Amino acid sequence: MFDDLIVVCRKCNKKVHPSELRRENQNSDVMVCSSCFNKAKDVSNSLEEIQKEISSSKEEKVKYYCEACGFKFTRNKSIANKSCPYCNKDAVKQANIKLVKEVKDM
Ligand SMILES: [Zn+2]
Ligand SMILES: [Zn+2]
Repeated sequence: MFDDLIVVCRKCNKKVHPSELRRENQNSDVMVCSSCFNKAKDVSNSLEEIQKEISSSKEEKVKYYCEACGFKFTRNKSIANKSCPYCNKDAVKQANIKLVKEVKDM
C-alpha cells in the first residue's frame, strides 16, 4: 500500500516515490526528486565558477576624461554614471585611443 504512494517533484513535476525526495538544499523546505537534487548541486558548483569568471572579467575598465576639468579616470564599463568624480559635471567623455594620442601630440 505504502509502496504505491507517489509524490510529484516540485521542480520537474516528475512522479517519484517519496523515498527519492530530498530537500533541495539545507536552507530550503522544497522537496525535489533525487535527479533534481543532483542537478541543483551541479548548478551551484558551476554557478560559483561562473561568478568567479565574471568577477575576473569585470575588470574591463574604460578610460574617461572630463571635458570640464580635464580629470582623467578609469571606470568599470558597467557603471552608467556619466558625471565626473572630480567636479561632478556631466561632461565626461569616453577617452578612446585616438583621443589619447591627440592629447599627447598636443
Ligand atoms: Zn525533479
Ligand atoms: Zn570634471
